[in-house]
Amino acid sequence: MSEINVQLNDGASTAIAGPVTVAEALKHLDRDMAKQALAARVNGAEVDLAFELDSPENGDTLKIEPVLPQTLAGLEVLRHSTAHLLAAAVLDLFPGTQLGIGPALLDDPRYGFFYDVIAPRALTESDLPVIEKKMRQIASRNLAYRRDEIPKAEAMRLFSERAEPLKCELIDEKAGERVSVYYIDNSPFIDFCLGPHVPNTNKLRAFKLLSLAGAYWKGDAENPQMQRIYGTAFFSQEELDGWLKQREEAEKRDHRRLGRELDLFSIQDQYGQGLIFWHPKGGIIRQQMEDYLREELVKRDYSFVYTPHIARRELWQVSGHEQAYGDSMFAPTTIEDVEFRLKPMNCPFHIGIYKSQQRSYRDLPQRYAEMGTVYRAELSGTLHGLMRVRGFTVDDAHLFCTPEQVRKEIDDCVDFANQVLKTFGFEKIKFELSVRGSDTSKNWLGSAEQWASAEVALAEALEARGIVYERIEGEAAFYGPKIDFKIEDAIGRLWQLGTVQWDFNLPERFELEYIGEDNKPHRPVMVHRALFGSIERFFGVLIEHYAGAFPMWLAPVQVAVLPITDRVNDYATSVAAELRQSGLRVLPNLRSEKIGAKIRDSQMQKVPFMLVLGDRELEQQQVAVRERIKGDIGVMSLEEFKAMAHGLIESRALANT
Ligand SMILES: [Zn+2]
Ligand SMILES: [Zn+2]
Repeated sequence: MSEINVQLNDGASTAIAGPVTVAEALKHLDRDMAKQALAARVNGAEVDLAFELDSPENGDTLKIEPVLPQTLAGLEVLRHSTAHLLAAAVLDLFPGTQLGIGPALLDDPRYGFFYDVIAPRALTESDLPVIEKKMRQIASRNLAYRRDEIPKAEAMRLFSERAEPLKCELIDEKAGERVSVYYIDNSPFIDFCLGPHVPNTNKLRAFKLLSLAGAYWKGDAENPQMQRIYGTAFFSQEELDGWLKQREEAEKRDHRRLGRELDLFSIQDQYGQGLIFWHPKGGIIRQQMEDYLREELVKRDYSFVYTPHIARRELWQVSGHEQAYGDSMFAPTTIEDVEFRLKPMNCPFHIGIYKSQQRSYRDLPQRYAEMGTVYRAELSGTLHGLMRVRGFTVDDAHLFCTPEQVRKEIDDCVDFANQVLKTFGFEKIKFELSVRGSDTSKNWLGSAEQWASAEVALAEALEARGIVYERIEGEAAFYGPKIDFKIEDAIGRLWQLGTVQWDFNLPERFELEYIGEDNKPHRPVMVHRALFGSIERFFGVLIEHYAGAFPMWLAPVQVAVLPITDRVNDYATSVAAELRQSGLRVLPNLRSEKIGAKIRDSQMQKVPFMLVLGDRELEQQQVAVRERIKGDIGVMSLEEFKAMAHGLIESRALANT
């Protein structure tokens, strides 16, 4: 028996007689935390609570951090463990089912986990409640998640005896000499998995299966087709109920349905999945979004550039996109023996403009902005309305500057993002600073000094504005730290939008230079920056955020002119013409319908203002104004109405008050 020195986070420490499990060690350190813990990190490595601690040879203290509920790490363990429970239930109900993978999803607003399966018969939606019931049964038996480590050959034998060729394939590819497998004791389930998991199924109480979708093994359409069962899990039933309620509200606001009803956009199979058609009304909104952004870009001294959609394949090899990103790029096409590839990102093109001439420190910063359309070879199963598509436009910009200038540039980007997102009515913006942290497993580019100064500059830009942000260790891009913006929409969902990224990589790869004050060549710093991110996706978020009722400045039709009787049609036509002349988007409805029907129709189309015109309005040369939500707001002259309407538009008001 040896003594093991353990310490809780950076707090209490004690020596206990080993061997001892993490759960027992935690009990010695903090009973309360031990009760709550789902898993733990020991010296930074994630392990199960049943993990047996061994005293390090040098006698160093082991640092134990419990993974607790209400943390992201805790949620991941919970959801991943629930995915195992799902697999166990499927195996129980459908023996002979082959299992694929079953990860937790933390960033997807729709789902919390999935498991890919090939069941002996195709599953249908009506199987989900049955599977969920089985999950509850298994959970209530309070079965233990047990980890075992076995030699690779034994693992291969185990899974091939179970007729699980897909798991064998994974083990063959990924496992080292020893293979970590997990059992849910007294259930038919075994998985090849690194863990960690919750200690027992009793910890899983609030979960729900949500839907079924098609998937391919390893996401490759050449591979066997599988079925993906989606579900979610939370720490408490209240949280799950709250989320389900929000989901119901989200369904009412679904941008795909509203997009159809309001005739904003379409996706047409015969042209290709994941490709967006902006209809005239959607086109107006996009134009307003872009015009607003361009106005701001001019004020902030950006230059507008336009670049091609394809480039020689070698370019993507130099940039590293082909190596790091090749799977998401459309396959090369050949013209006169030269291979070309569609662009998945705009960055190398802006570099081309920078490199087209020698730059001096006096020319910097160079700020290139482009509504850059890019193409990604996303699999059909992952596509989702405007949110996940194969072709989209980024409000992209790249800044090239000296190391001394970069702090101010970042500062401006943060300010810009804040302003733009608030203009669209997103008051709650969550900033995340992703840094390199102590993670040494990633192949970080750039020197320690470069990283340190970049991380400080990003942090200072946020702090200088009093922005509260979350610092995320180890989540930086391999080429530099970044700030991500997430917005909270009208029903409390978080959306990841734009980003400001510092890049040590591309200037190096493309050997970018500027001549410094010392007359010597120096390497500039490159910053990638997008505020909407994808314009398509941002549009999707806006549709759901506003529930299709766009504020005046964005509304495709701003004013409906509705004559009560045919006698005033001429007056209605002249009112509409005058409003249009003043720059408003107007739609007269001269059909011989009851006024009630005309108003209802405009309401359905979420038109902000309706001008209801009858004999009296004609006689007095006035207009009776209805606001979409408030109803009648009175009779006024056309001049008064115009002034009010233009006032709302110019101030980009979010409400018509
Ligand atoms: Zn697992
Ligand atoms: Zn870029």
